[in-house]
Amino acid sequence: MTDYSMYHALGQGENLDPNDPNRTQPAAPQFQPPITPNPYQPGAGYNAPPGQQYPPPMGGPAPAQSPGYAPYGQHPGQQQPGFSPAGPLSPADDGGLAAQMGGMSLGADSGYGTARRKKKDRHAYHQVDAPVGSSQAFNGIPPAGTPATGYLNSNPALSPGQFGGGGGIPPQMGQFPAPVNSQFSPMPASPMEFAARGGMMDAILSPTVVSASGQNKVSPEDMPSVPLSRDSVQQYFLNNLYPTFERLVPPPATVSFAAFDQGNSSPKFARLSMTNIPATGEGLRSTALPLGLLLQPLAPLQAGELAIPVLDFGDVGPPRCHRCRAYINPFMMFRAGGNKFVCNLCTYANDTPPEYFCATSPQGVRVDRDQRPELTRGTVEFVVPKEYWTKEPVGMRYLFVIDVTQESFNKGFLESFCDGILGAIYGAEDSEDKGENGEAKRKIPAGAKVGFVTFDKEVHFYNVSPALEQAQMMIMPDIEDPFVPLSEGLFVDPYESRSVITSLLTRLPQMFSQIKNPEPALLSTLNSAIAALEKTGGKIFCSLSALPTWGPGRLFLRDDGKHPGGEPDKKLFSTEHPAWRKIAEKMVSLGVGVDFFMAAPSGGYLDIATVGYVASTTGGETFYYPNFVAPRDNTRLSLEIKHAVTRETGYQALMKVRCSNGLQISAYHGNFIQHTFGADLEIGVIDADKALGVTFSYDGKLDSKLDAHFQAALLYTTASGQRRVRCLNIIAGVSDNPKDSLKFIDQDAVYTIIAKEASTKLATTSSTLKDIRLGLTEKTIDVLAGYRKNFLSQSHPPGQLVMPERLKEFSMYMLSMIKCRAFKGGSETTDRRVHEMRLIRSMGALELSLYLYPRMIPVHNLQPEDGFPDETTGHLRMPPSIRTSFSRVEPGGVYIVDNGQQCLMWFHAQTSPNLIADLFGEDKTSLQALDAYTSTLPMLQTHLNAQVRNIVEFLRTMRGSKGLTIQLARQGIDGAEFEFARSLVEDRNNEAQSYVDWLVHIHKGVQLEVSSVIP
Ligand SMILES: [Zn+2]
Repeated sequence: MTDYSMYHALGQGENLDPNDPNRTQPAAPQFQPPITPNPYQPGAGYNAPPGQQYPPPMGGPAPAQSPGYAPYGQHPGQQQPGFSPAGPLSPADDGGLAAQMGGMSLGADSGYGTARRKKKDRHAYHQVDAPVGSSQAFNGIPPAGTPATGYLNSNPALSPGQFGGGGGIPPQMGQFPAPVNSQFSPMPASPMEFAARGGMMDAILSPTVVSASGQNKVSPEDMPSVPLSRDSVQQYFLNNLYPTFERLVPPPATVSFAAFDQGNSSPKFARLSMTNIPATGEGLRSTALPLGLLLQPLAPLQAGELAIPVLDFGDVGPPRCHRCRAYINPFMMFRAGGNKFVCNLCTYANDTPPEYFCATSPQGVRVDRDQRPELTRGTVEFVVPKEYWTKEPVGMRYLFVIDVTQESFNKGFLESFCDGILGAIYGAEDSEDKGENGEAKRKIPAGAKVGFVTFDKEVHFYNVSPALEQAQMMIMPDIEDPFVPLSEGLFVDPYESRSVITSLLTRLPQMFSQIKNPEPALLSTLNSAIAALEKTGGKIFCSLSALPTWGPGRLFLRDDGKHPGGEPDKKLFSTEHPAWRKIAEKMVSLGVGVDFFMAAPSGGYLDIATVGYVASTTGGETFYYPNFVAPRDNTRLSLEIKHAVTRETGYQALMKVRCSNGLQISAYHGNFIQHTFGADLEIGVIDADKALGVTFSYDGKLDSKLDAHFQAALLYTTASGQRRVRCLNIIAGVSDNPKDSLKFIDQDAVYTIIAKEASTKLATTSSTLKDIRLGLTEKTIDVLAGYRKNFLSQSHPPGQLVMPERLKEFSMYMLSMIKCRAFKGGSETTDRRVHEMRLIRSMGALELSLYLYPRMIPVHNLQPEDGFPDETTGHLRMPPSIRTSFSRVEPGGVYIVDNGQQCLMWFHAQTSPNLIADLFGEDKTSLQALDAYTSTLPMLQTHLNAQVRNIVEFLRTMRGSKGLTIQLARQGIDGAEFEFARSLVEDRNNEAQSYVDWLVHIHKGVQLEVSSVIP
């Protein structure tokens, strides 16, 4: 079934998108796919006359559009200061890893004491002394009696049997750019490497010091720079994989990297706030940091990463621990010749089921281990049998529920939404969305079906059976007691009914152009929608353009906009309405979730607190267009509908997180229902962008000789109709000295967990916005004071603010959190506040990082090579980002500012006419000449235009759920300038401090805390 030559052949020329629903084969590793040749001669400045330096005309797509291109450029030799080479291993380590490539042996003693070696013998998954080549002898042939279905997607690329021994680059890796340091190991790293990590990093992890005794002494250059921390690490990961089971702390979430799963789940799926955790609760408290796990179970893969193995154990299901029900994983230890396996989470010794038995080597390793993804990969998926079903799994039902009220029609939202659906299901007519035979590629998986409902004061269902000439409308007249007026033809295969559906969606705006009911009856509509999904579960995509003021559950204008002191009534942040709360719960129990597309064409109130509650509780998402203008926002709406429809989505989900003895779950933060504490999380729908946070507390002391384990299991039905469990396994070292833990902090996980906690607190307690901001300030002080009090090995003058190396930019992110729309002081509509508060609870690390600290890229002074593939590496050369501060803005400058939600292009009032013409066309030579509703750059043959389009294309690949379009912010012209000012998070903004002032403030707090404990 899987054969080596197939894997080897793939990846040389074909670009497989690992997220493509049409994909039938696992994507081969392709860290550096081919790139369309650069048609340009780099070297010309943007203001050179266009048309002279280029071969005519622009053939083919811009390089950035070539599928699967490896983004982000390398600046050769430009090792920026501030990059901690935490990743690269010392030569001694290299020797050890190289030796492992031939087997499990560490080879030469790489400096670890024998005491450690002894301690590591207690672990399951490694054999320190196994002879080199022990797994080669086995050579990939499973022993008789091994069920063939046990390792359906077993990937030969992982089998060391084919590598030959030694430490050279295995043939499969020829597809990768030659690693700078061959620190990538094709085998799961030795846990010894992982666990024996303490004390190795002191040399590189010296604390960061900012002189902060008074404002005058702080130089802006001294303050830790978020852009630098991102860009410098990016350079490294252009040429190196991220091996998930070595001593590395994950790269920043905004960095493009390809992870290699060595048994520990990739940081794209799971990030621990620290990968080496204190042995006691007291130790953790001394750091003031949360012990938390950020989980994004369906996160997208990127080119160069192996597909998640899907494993089918037939009717018996995957092997599990009898006591704690944990799923089989790489850290379970086989004993008694393979007859027992010891659970890594609860330490119970289970009998190995006979059908899963396999002999172990003299060293205690199952001889089939390397052929079994569930024993070698940190993220796997199990197909599960009937006992895991609540109802017969079927392909997902996508129900499009379309607002056809007056406002929706008048503002062009109805037409935009219908066009967006067509684009999402069928792709653009002329685009690359066609397969080889010219037919449209499936955008939604085979087995999935679509249906259509429209609503104003009434609810209309449509029969779109392929047998019909035209769709038939059935009116559901009783909004007090909703039902489904048709039994056949509501849900169809969109490709069989293409002409019926296309004609319906094209005609809808015209059909409702004369009717013009102003008031939508949304709750009744949703009730009839879930009646249609009762038997199957599924996902609703619902548009809304006005406050739903009609029928049962009608809402009214709760927010008059008057919030003295910026503190709205807390009631406005949630909903007390019993019918809306009830429908959300009902949806979850039926395995239904909803995404809303809410446009407030006149900036009006939509009561997102109530309507959006249904989306957030069911695991869906709200896309919000606060001041919808069709010409400007069409493109974005289309992109977002397409993304929402095509991103990996599962439904009818249950989630369970398990952890080692000694730890317990203290809270979950995210979008789900949990009926009682300790119960599984119930989630109507879950998609690739959704993440949730889990925090842990101690109920005992951890043994520092052992590791701590975590397992998150998501039981769900795939969009194609298969019931599966996605299993994420995470391991962390344990230290008696919490100082060691400080060397293994994942800063992004830390502030993400803190942000989610703050959002939950705002939604579920009586805390005011002011309380939340104070709490965030105190948290920042506590962390830095804890470090100063407990962990500094040398004394620092009181005038210095000292930060752990791993938390250098932590203070900046915390300041941004205080300034973000969800928590900031000053006036803000409750719709926007609530919307962003919920976003924070559901965002993954990448999206939240950008949301808190946008990328700001100057485009007026690009190097000629920027925005094009580097000649030697083939990676797109990205210009460095700059600090988000007005002090960095140059006269005549033009800047892209992307916070992952909105991408602004800001123009200084004195922008050169040549530059404007090069970006937008020869007829545009002044800022005033530009169309205020511009949302994309035209495709021109100027160097600058191509550079900027390529850069934008790259930014598009590094985002969360929002569609990237450009919004103009011309100095002195556009209202979006206000947004630009808000994006400058290092500056003073309203009542919030500048970065410099903030550090001074924090430093004072630290001094107070530290001095209060010194006698
Ligand atoms: Zn167990």
